[in-house]
Amino acid sequence: MDSQDYDVIVLGGGSAGIAAAVAAARNGARTALVEAGQMLGGELLTGMTVDGAINGRGQDTVGGVLNDLLDLCRDMGGFVAKLNDWRLIQYVAYDPEIMKIAIPQLVFGAGVKVYLQTFAEEVVQAGGRISGLVVRNKGGRRLLTARAFVDASGDGDLCAMAGAQMMSVGPDEKPQPMSMMFRMANVDSAALLSYVREHPESVAVGESEAIRGGRTDREITEEIYRQGQPCVFFKGDGPLLGDAIARGDMFPTALIMIQPTSDVRREVCVNATRIVLDDPMQADNMATALRVLTGQVFQCAAFLRKAVPGFGDASISGMSPRIGIRETRRVVGDYVLTGEDVLEARKREDGVAKGCHHVDIHQDGTGQIRIPVADGGSYDIPLGSLLPKGLENVVIAGRCLSASREAQGSARVMGSCMAMGQAAGSLTAMASGQTNHLSLRDIPVGRLRQALRVQGAILDGTY
Ligand SMILES: Cc1cc2nc3c(=O)[nH]c(=O)nc-3n(C[C@H](O)[C@H](O)[C@H](O)COP(=O)(O)OP(=O)(O)OC[C@H]3O[C@@H](n4cnc5c(N)ncnc54)[C@H](O)[C@@H]3O)c2cc1C
Repeated sequence: MDSQDYDVIVLGGGSAGIAAAVAAARNGARTALVEAGQMLGGELLTGMTVDGAINGRGQDTVGGVLNDLLDLCRDMGGFVAKLNDWRLIQYVAYDPEIMKIAIPQLVFGAGVKVYLQTFAEEVVQAGGRISGLVVRNKGGRRLLTARAFVDASGDGDLCAMAGAQMMSVGPDEKPQPMSMMFRMANVDSAALLSYVREHPESVAVGESEAIRGGRTDREITEEIYRQGQPCVFFKGDGPLLGDAIARGDMFPTALIMIQPTSDVRREVCVNATRIVLDDPMQADNMATALRVLTGQVFQCAAFLRKAVPGFGDASISGMSPRIGIRETRRVVGDYVLTGEDVLEARKREDGVAKGCHHVDIHQDGTGQIRIPVADGGSYDIPLGSLLPKGLENVVIAGRCLSASREAQGSARVMGSCMAMGQAAGSLTAMASGQTNHLSLRDIPVGRLRQALRVQGAILDGTY
């Protein structure tokens, strides 16, 4: 079997993995990024907004690699806008087509060796240290060795293969739904926003007092109108969408979330489709999801065209290159982030990344749990939530972090995933300069925090 040696190997090229790989490489580590698909960026390519990067008070909470990526998009003339959803959060909207170009520029520009269409299927380990990752691609099986590893696989594959303890939903629970994001172009925003201004009863608004600020629903839809961008959440229990669901014109869903992706194309991203299946990691379930979700995309686009002002001349302009998976396995780490940590906006001296998104757990049908972080604030994700129990040279980044289900329901969004990625990549780069016997736990968290600050990551000073 061929082999190749690196300082750091990152498994998974989603939002967490690209940030980890860039941070590791920029910190001097010979870095490889292994991704089963053919593209880098994961959900960043769909047009969904980056959540968890601005708290409810409008303060940036991530910085670092995320900011560099957004700057690259801006430099290429791409649409990038910080917006208020006037419901629970503030977020960054961007053009996913420019993002598709910016991500490879960022990753290759940092000097990362990228393995695409390459599946990791085994780890080589002894005594809690991983020394190699066995991958398979069209070239056959190959051993990639490294001093330190980042598990940014979303499903915690690397940790699971190494025998780490994993968590998933309880026996009486179902994982969050899978969804297919899609986009529609030639949307008349002015008509949409005029309709929204007159129909607060159909729109989800002011679910957090930090966002509502004492305004009535009508005053909030006026603010949405004034913001001038198509940032609209039609609610499943409001008359517009609720009646359509009752008539069978729409499938049951909690919200139709509409967010801008391009002024030039007059384009929006639509997040509405959903299917709940027992285990999104099973191939049969993925096939079922593809069949059902693509049908829902078509149905939702038809509903918008027929029933929602501004969509009359719009058409589908893009669909996610993959099925969106919100929840599978989480790794058990030294610390399990709790719902209270999130909701009470707890700050910690061992925080290495931040989150600020509400606890956001989509359910079957029209169900969705949405609980805001206290006072529109942000919370710290401690290093312990990124260190898998029993493994010495692995860091977790992204949606498989060590967190309760509730806390994952917040920290899973892309802003926090990229912040975790930056912390994980930086830590593994620090470790790779040391002897083979060093545990990541021997590196003082204060040193990592200082290194992250120097890289522009935001750890301090937010509410
Ligand atoms: C429908 C939907 C809507 C969402 N809406 C928003 C939103 O509006 N805003 C927001 O910020 N967040 C949103 N989220 C959440 C967010 O997009 C994800 O939680 C986040 O992108 C996860 O990033 P990740 O890097 O941890 O994992 P992933 O994006 O899942 O990336 C993991 C990568 O690892 C690769 N991989 C896995 N196993 C292996 C293996 N064995 N070998 C090789 N490669 C492997 C996968 O191919 C994948 O590319 C949404 C999620 C979904 C699904």
